Amino acid sequence: MLIDSFDRKIEYLRVSVTKQCNFRCQYCMPDTPENFSDTSSLIPLDKMLEFIKVAIDEGIKKIRITGGEPLLRKDLANFIASIRSYSPEIELALTTNGFFLKQYAQALKDAGLNRLNISLDSLQASKVALISKRDVLPQILEGIDEAQKVGFPIKVNMVPLKGINDDEILPMLEYAMQRKITLRFIEFMENDHARSHLKGLNEAEILHIISQKYRIIEVPKQTLGPSKSYQLENGTKFGIIAPHNDDFCKSCNRIRLTSEGTICPCLYYQEAVDAKEGILEGDSQKMRESIRLSVKNKPEKNQWDLEQNEHSARAFYYTGG
Ligand code: SAM
Ligand code: SF4
Repeated sequence: MLIDSFDRKIEYLRVSVTKQCNFRCQYCMPDTPENFSDTSSLIPLDKMLEFIKVAIDEGIKKIRITGGEPLLRKDLANFIASIRSYSPEIELALTTNGFFLKQYAQALKDAGLNRLNISLDSLQASKVALISKRDVLPQILEGIDEAQKVGFPIKVNMVPLKGINDDEILPMLEYAMQRKITLRFIEFMENDHARSHLKGLNEAEILHIISQKYRIIEVPKQTLGPSKSYQLENGTKFGIIAPHNDDFCKSCNRIRLTSEGTICPCLYYQEAVDAKEGILEGDSQKMRESIRLSVKNKPEKNQWDLEQNEHSARAFYYTGG
């Protein structure tokens, strides 16, 4: 069992399998060159699998595959199937921009993936194009359809931005309501790689917009993790991830492995453990020590103070969000 220095049980590992992406979202990697490739720094998936096995043996119970865009990594379905065959009980999830889902949803389902989070910031093609720098709304919606057809439970992640897609909060909620999808609003997290003019809506501002049309009930937390759950009177549930709130880190139960073999104990804290050598050598003892060290080093709170103008220098496409 992995317990950190502040008595939090660490059971959730996020694994970023690539920094590469086919989108260029304004809040993530707007200035990354189109021909960016990270192939030379990637940990091979068979080596990552060995690390994941050690992490499961240490007490990890939930794994989320992320990126960059994870579906750009060839053989991802086989990788997922191998994790599933090592642990039939582990909760296995994937976060994706949805572009390749139409193609891969069935293979991911067959591989034993349990759930999908799909990022979508608007139902207007022009706004999706403005945010992601790609004209991709039809492909994302088709991906969502296919994923539902093959039986995945789906959450949609939306990052509300002032003057860009704040008028899409209610349409997105109603789309999710009709499709029986859970919508999760993520407060925009300022970082050095995002466009500097972006302003996100905070939890109170998001709730205010929804409350103009619906009565909202806060649902008591049932699981660990940073998302808060809300419900409308008609039973529709939605969530908000609000890292700007003071109590955000109290329930944190996660560590992150990057595609280059670094373990990050916190999204907004620069220190990390370089586990690359142990992973590439396939040395279980070294990998175990790296995992334990990252849990021991996990800070009580993120080092993120907007009043002090402290942004994260780490990119979301590096840590996987
Ligand atoms: N490419 C995949 C996708 O977009 O779903 C997975 C990786 S992406 C980094 C994971 C999540 O991080 C997405 O839901 C995205 O919206 C979110 N994200 C990226 N940059 C963010 C930021 N600056 N603030 C808040 N959320 C962000
Ligand atoms: Fe790509 Fe996801 Fe970042 Fe958008 S948020 S650029 S889809 S990694």
